[in-house]
Amino acid sequence: MPIRPSQVPSQVRGLRARNRRAIMTAIRNLKHTARVDIARVTGISAATVTSITADLVAEGLVEETLDGAQERSGGRGRPRVLLRVRPDAFLIAGAKISTDRITVTLTDYAGEEVAYHVEPQPVPQVATAVEVARHLCLAIETALAGKGKSLAELASVGVGLPGFIDASSGRVYWSACFKERDVDFRALLTSTFGCPVSLDNDANLVALAEKWFGLGRGVDNFIVVTIEHGVGMGVVLGGKLFRGMRGIGTEFGHTKVQMDGALCRCGQRGCLEAYVADYALVREAGAALGRDLSCPMTLQEDLDALFAAAKAGDRVAESIFERAGRMFAMGLANLVNVFDPNLIIFSGEQMRYDYLYSPRVLVRMRQLTVVPGRNPPEVRIHKWGDRIWVRGAAALAMDALAESDASGSARDHEHLTPASESLLA
Ligand SMILES: [Zn+2]
Repeated sequence: MPIRPSQVPSQVRGLRARNRRAIMTAIRNLKHTARVDIARVTGISAATVTSITADLVAEGLVEETLDGAQERSGGRGRPRVLLRVRPDAFLIAGAKISTDRITVTLTDYAGEEVAYHVEPQPVPQVATAVEVARHLCLAIETALAGKGKSLAELASVGVGLPGFIDASSGRVYWSACFKERDVDFRALLTSTFGCPVSLDNDANLVALAEKWFGLGRGVDNFIVVTIEHGVGMGVVLGGKLFRGMRGIGTEFGHTKVQMDGALCRCGQRGCLEAYVADYALVREAGAALGRDLSCPMTLQEDLDALFAAAKAGDRVAESIFERAGRMFAMGLANLVNVFDPNLIIFSGEQMRYDYLYSPRVLVRMRQLTVVPGRNPPEVRIHKWGDRIWVRGAAALAMDALAESDASGSARDHEHLTPASESLLA
């Protein structure tokens, strides 16, 4: 379709914004680099690189240094001028809100971690969104205070949390982390922090992290399944995060696997999560053993004890994990039937509970798919902890920052190389 004359200025602005982001990413990833190398790596013309880097230096985002290696080697001629990101240009926070803790990372503008802090989250079932926001603020302030810094110095915050979250509007329709529904959580956080806040479903952040730094690097289509306190999913289609046609889809944990089944935290019955997530396993163990295992502060310990009992041959504990594995296989088969994926990545901390991805579970998944005989999807396991999730959140915040100062750019950060691949270094 031909471009109307009235559209040209925004197209041009969009192109310049994209070039600016690509150049910024190259400078950040290459650490110290010459303009000629930036042009080579990005494929952007030398003239455009010169023009845009001049802006970046004038704005204080990038600084020029002399090539020390060339000087030391006694190289002739004028020393080369290199560019590097000014680490102190911005301070960025990434956070993950879980039902039992808040994890925070602070990074500088060069993508280096400045601080890391974990704050226990008290009694999530009765907390309000305002209380969780306050608690998040406290966690970030604690991380900042450890470095002699304050909230006023934060440029951007990225937050991931479980639940039905609309990343574009910033609304949380439901989360296990607080009791209200349909909360404009991003507005609440923006007023709390006084700087731009990016919000997303935590499993989406893991999918982005897998795409940017993990097993999904260079892969255009894949599904990430996370198992933690709940069951999450992130879908990457055509190199871009797919959040559902209206923004809050891909809620794998709340697909139904049992008519009138177990009660889920979302309020409905029969959700996959109500059979597979840690709280569901501990709940079932409590009922089977006649013990109260519902205290959220000891959930992990109870789960560890249950897992150890199953490994030691306890029949009740074994049956609980075995049933969860069968439910999970059913859910996975539904995913395969809907998406027909090439690659499924099981990602997260709870992946140490191997019952969920045992060969038996994967065989059952294949048996339940509608095209038996066809090559099953590749399944890969990626065990990583909170640090990666929050760095994904920080990278999201950094990209939002790049968007806000690159006028005219579209909101398509998932499609691009992250602003800070070095976040995972
Ligand atoms: Zn549910």
